[in-house]
Amino acid sequence: MEREGILVVISGFAGAGKGTIVKGLMEKYEDYALSVSMTTRAPRPGETEGISYFFVDKEKFEQTIAEGGLIEYANYCGNYYGTPKAYVEAQLRAGKDVILEIEIQGAMQIKRMYPTALLLFITPPDADTLRRRLVGRGTETMEVINKRMARAVNEAEGIEEYDYIIVNDTIERAIADTRAVIGAAHARPFRNGRLIQGLREELRLMSIQHRND
Ligand code: 5GP
Repeated sequence: MEREGILVVISGFAGAGKGTIVKGLMEKYEDYALSVSMTTRAPRPGETEGISYFFVDKEKFEQTIAEGGLIEYANYCGNYYGTPKAYVEAQLRAGKDVILEIEIQGAMQIKRMYPTALLLFITPPDADTLRRRLVGRGTETMEVINKRMARAVNEAEGIEEYDYIIVNDTIERAIADTRAVIGAAHARPFRNGRLIQGLREELRLMSIQHRND
Protein backbone atom coordinates (compact mmCIF):
# COMPACT_ATOMS: atom_id res chain seq x y z
CA MET A 1 0.00 0.00 0.00
CA GLU A 2 1.37 3.41 -0.87
CA ARG A 3 1.79 5.68 2.11
CA GLU A 4 2.42 9.34 2.65
CA GLY A 5 5.85 10.54 3.72
CA ILE A 6 6.21 12.16 7.13
CA LEU A 7 8.27 15.27 7.74
CA VAL A 8 10.38 14.21 10.75
CA VAL A 9 12.13 16.95 12.73
CA ILE A 10 14.97 15.83 14.96
CA SER A 11 16.27 18.40 17.44
CA GLY A 12 18.24 18.23 20.65
CA PHE A 13 21.11 19.83 22.49
CA ALA A 14 24.46 20.03 20.73
CA GLY A 15 26.25 16.83 21.73
CA ALA A 16 23.04 14.89 22.41
CA GLY A 17 23.87 12.49 19.59
CA LYS A 18 21.34 13.63 16.95
CA GLY A 19 23.87 13.23 14.17
CA THR A 20 24.81 9.70 15.23
CA ILE A 21 21.17 8.65 15.49
CA VAL A 22 20.34 10.08 12.07
CA LYS A 23 23.42 8.43 10.53
CA GLY A 24 22.42 5.09 12.08
CA LEU A 25 18.87 5.38 10.75
CA MET A 26 20.10 6.19 7.25
CA GLU A 27 22.57 3.29 7.25
CA LYS A 28 20.13 0.71 8.61
CA TYR A 29 16.99 1.56 6.69
CA GLU A 30 16.10 2.72 3.20
CA ASP A 31 12.82 4.42 4.08
CA TYR A 32 14.26 7.81 4.89
CA ALA A 33 15.49 10.81 2.92
CA LEU A 34 17.87 13.13 4.75
CA SER A 35 17.62 16.83 4.02
CA VAL A 36 20.99 18.60 3.59
CA SER A 37 20.91 22.08 5.12
CA MET A 38 22.47 25.28 3.94
CA THR A 39 24.75 27.09 6.39
CA THR A 40 27.13 30.03 6.67
CA ARG A 41 29.22 28.11 9.26
CA ALA A 42 32.73 27.13 8.13
CA PRO A 43 33.20 23.42 7.33
CA ARG A 44 34.74 21.29 10.09
CA PRO A 45 37.52 18.86 9.23
CA GLY A 46 35.98 15.84 7.50
CA GLU A 47 32.79 17.62 6.40
CA THR A 48 31.89 17.47 2.71
CA GLU A 49 30.11 20.08 0.61
CA GLY A 50 26.64 18.87 -0.42
CA ILE A 51 26.69 15.94 2.03
CA SER A 52 27.25 17.51 5.45
CA TYR A 53 25.89 20.90 4.41
CA PHE A 54 25.76 23.30 1.50
CA PHE A 55 28.36 25.78 2.74
CA VAL A 56 27.59 29.30 1.52
CA ASP A 57 28.39 32.90 2.41
CA LYS A 58 25.95 35.28 4.07
CA GLU A 59 24.99 36.96 0.78
CA LYS A 60 24.05 33.68 -0.87
CA PHE A 61 22.08 32.60 2.22
CA GLU A 62 20.14 35.86 2.34
CA GLN A 63 19.46 35.66 -1.38
CA THR A 64 18.02 32.14 -0.92
CA ILE A 65 15.75 33.43 1.87
CA ALA A 66 14.57 36.26 -0.39
CA GLU A 67 13.80 33.79 -3.20
CA GLY A 68 11.65 31.69 -0.85
CA GLY A 69 14.03 28.76 -1.25
CA LEU A 70 14.04 27.70 2.42
CA ILE A 71 11.19 26.12 4.40
CA GLU A 72 12.73 27.38 7.65
CA TYR A 73 15.93 29.03 8.80
CA ALA A 74 17.51 30.23 12.01
CA ASN A 75 20.54 31.97 13.39
CA TYR A 76 22.37 29.59 15.72
CA CYS A 77 25.44 30.78 17.66
CA GLY A 78 26.23 33.44 15.05
CA ASN A 79 25.64 31.44 11.86
CA TYR A 80 22.67 30.94 9.57
CA TYR A 81 21.24 27.46 9.04
CA GLY A 82 18.26 26.63 6.79
CA THR A 83 16.41 23.81 5.05
CA PRO A 84 16.18 23.96 1.23
CA LYS A 85 12.57 23.61 0.11
CA ALA A 86 12.73 21.77 -3.23
CA TYR A 87 14.32 18.52 -1.99
CA VAL A 88 11.99 18.19 1.02
CA GLU A 89 8.83 18.72 -0.97
CA ALA A 90 9.89 16.35 -3.78
CA GLN A 91 10.77 13.55 -1.34
CA LEU A 92 7.53 13.93 0.63
CA ARG A 93 5.56 13.75 -2.62
CA ALA A 94 7.49 10.55 -3.50
CA GLY A 95 6.30 9.01 -0.21
CA LYS A 96 9.62 9.16 1.67
CA ASP A 97 9.90 10.14 5.32
CA VAL A 98 12.13 13.21 5.25
CA ILE A 99 14.44 13.82 8.19
CA LEU A 100 15.44 17.34 9.18
CA GLU A 101 18.13 17.60 11.82
CA ILE A 102 17.54 21.16 12.94
CA GLU A 103 17.57 23.36 16.03
CA ILE A 104 14.53 24.48 17.97
CA GLN A 105 13.69 27.83 16.29
CA GLY A 106 13.57 26.10 12.93
CA ALA A 107 11.57 23.23 14.43
CA MET A 108 8.92 25.70 15.65
CA GLN A 109 8.66 27.24 12.15
CA ILE A 110 8.14 23.74 10.71
CA LYS A 111 5.46 23.02 13.33
CA ARG A 112 3.53 26.11 12.21
CA MET A 113 3.97 25.52 8.47
CA TYR A 114 3.51 21.73 8.47
CA PRO A 115 1.14 20.89 11.35
CA THR A 116 1.38 17.14 10.66
CA ALA A 117 5.19 17.08 11.00
CA LEU A 118 6.56 14.74 13.68
CA LEU A 119 8.85 16.51 16.15
CA LEU A 120 11.39 14.48 18.11
CA PHE A 121 13.69 15.85 20.80
CA ILE A 122 16.89 13.92 21.51
CA THR A 123 18.37 14.31 24.96
CA PRO A 124 21.23 12.70 26.86
CA PRO A 125 20.28 11.10 30.19
CA ASP A 126 21.78 14.07 32.12
CA ALA A 127 23.68 17.36 31.73
CA ASP A 128 27.02 15.86 32.76
CA THR A 129 26.91 13.38 29.88
CA LEU A 130 26.16 16.23 27.50
CA ARG A 131 29.20 18.27 28.53
CA ARG A 132 31.47 15.22 28.44
CA ARG A 133 30.30 14.36 24.91
CA LEU A 134 30.84 17.92 23.67
CA VAL A 135 34.35 18.10 25.12
CA GLY A 136 35.18 14.55 23.97
CA ARG A 137 34.17 15.32 20.39
CA GLY A 138 37.17 17.65 20.23
CA THR A 139 35.80 19.59 17.26
CA GLU A 140 35.01 22.85 19.08
CA THR A 141 36.91 25.32 21.21
CA MET A 142 35.97 25.67 24.91
CA GLU A 143 34.42 29.05 24.04
CA VAL A 144 32.07 27.41 21.50
CA ILE A 145 31.30 24.55 23.90
CA ASN A 146 30.34 26.99 26.65
CA LYS A 147 28.17 28.93 24.18
CA ARG A 148 26.37 25.73 23.20
CA MET A 149 25.90 24.64 26.83
CA ALA A 150 24.41 28.07 27.61
CA ARG A 151 22.11 27.71 24.64
CA ALA A 152 20.96 24.30 25.94
CA VAL A 153 19.46 26.07 28.98
CA ASN A 154 17.08 27.98 26.67
CA GLU A 155 16.44 25.01 24.41
CA ALA A 156 15.36 22.90 27.39
CA GLU A 157 12.45 25.33 27.91
CA GLY A 158 10.95 24.29 24.58
CA ILE A 159 10.96 20.50 24.99
CA GLU A 160 7.19 20.25 25.57
CA GLU A 161 6.59 21.66 22.08
CA TYR A 162 7.88 18.36 20.66
CA ASP A 163 5.80 15.21 20.14
CA TYR A 164 8.29 12.72 21.62
CA ILE A 165 11.50 12.66 23.64
CA ILE A 166 14.20 10.14 22.76
CA VAL A 167 16.72 9.56 25.57
CA ASN A 168 20.08 8.78 24.02
CA ASP A 169 21.57 6.49 26.62
CA THR A 170 22.89 3.81 24.30
CA ILE A 171 22.97 4.66 20.64
CA GLU A 172 21.44 1.38 19.41
CA ARG A 173 18.49 1.81 21.73
CA ALA A 174 18.00 5.45 20.68
CA ILE A 175 18.01 4.46 16.98
CA ALA A 176 15.47 1.70 17.64
CA ASP A 177 13.25 4.09 19.66
CA THR A 178 13.37 6.71 16.90
CA ARG A 179 12.45 4.10 14.29
CA ALA A 180 9.57 2.87 16.48
CA VAL A 181 8.16 6.37 17.00
CA ILE A 182 8.23 7.13 13.26
CA GLY A 183 6.57 3.75 12.62
CA ALA A 184 3.86 4.53 15.18
CA ALA A 185 3.22 7.91 13.56
CA HIS A 186 2.37 6.10 10.32
CA ALA A 187 -0.34 4.19 12.20
CA ARG A 188 -2.28 7.35 13.17
CA PRO A 189 -5.77 7.30 11.62
CA PHE A 190 -5.36 10.75 10.05
CA ARG A 191 -2.50 9.41 7.93
CA ASN A 192 -4.55 6.43 6.79
CA GLY A 193 -7.59 8.09 5.31
CA ARG A 194 -7.59 6.00 2.14
CA LEU A 195 -7.34 2.71 4.05
CA ILE A 196 -10.18 3.74 6.33
CA GLN A 197 -12.44 4.90 3.48
CA GLY A 198 -11.71 1.68 1.56
CA LEU A 199 -12.56 -0.47 4.56
CA ARG A 200 -15.81 1.39 5.19
CA GLU A 201 -16.81 0.99 1.56
CA GLU A 202 -16.02 -2.76 1.54
CA LEU A 203 -17.93 -3.29 4.77
CA ARG A 204 -20.97 -1.45 3.41
CA LEU A 205 -20.95 -3.51 0.19
CA MET A 206 -20.48 -6.75 2.09
CA SER A 207 -23.37 -6.03 4.41
CA ILE A 208 -25.62 -5.32 1.39
CA GLN A 209 -24.52 -8.54 -0.37
CA HIS A 210 -25.19 -10.67 2.70
CA ARG A 211 -28.38 -8.89 3.73
CA ASN A 212 -30.53 -11.92 3.00
CA ASP A 213 -28.16 -14.70 4.18
P1 5GP B 1 26.34 22.28 13.76
O1 5GP B 1 27.04 23.61 13.61
O2 5GP B 1 26.75 21.57 15.02
O3 5GP B 1 26.45 21.43 12.52
O4 5GP B 1 24.79 22.61 13.92
C1 5GP B 1 24.36 23.50 14.90
C2 5GP B 1 22.86 23.39 15.08
O5 5GP B 1 22.17 23.79 13.90
C3 5GP B 1 22.41 21.95 15.36
O6 5GP B 1 21.47 22.00 16.43
C4 5GP B 1 21.76 21.54 14.08
O7 5GP B 1 20.73 20.58 14.29
C5 5GP B 1 21.18 22.87 13.61
N1 5GP B 1 20.87 22.88 12.17
C6 5GP B 1 21.50 22.24 11.17
N2 5GP B 1 20.89 22.49 10.01
C7 5GP B 1 19.84 23.30 10.28
C8 5GP B 1 18.81 23.90 9.48
O8 5GP B 1 18.70 23.72 8.27
N3 5GP B 1 17.91 24.69 10.12
C9 5GP B 1 17.96 24.92 11.46
N4 5GP B 1 17.01 25.68 11.98
N5 5GP B 1 18.90 24.35 12.24
C10 5GP B 1 19.83 23.57 11.66
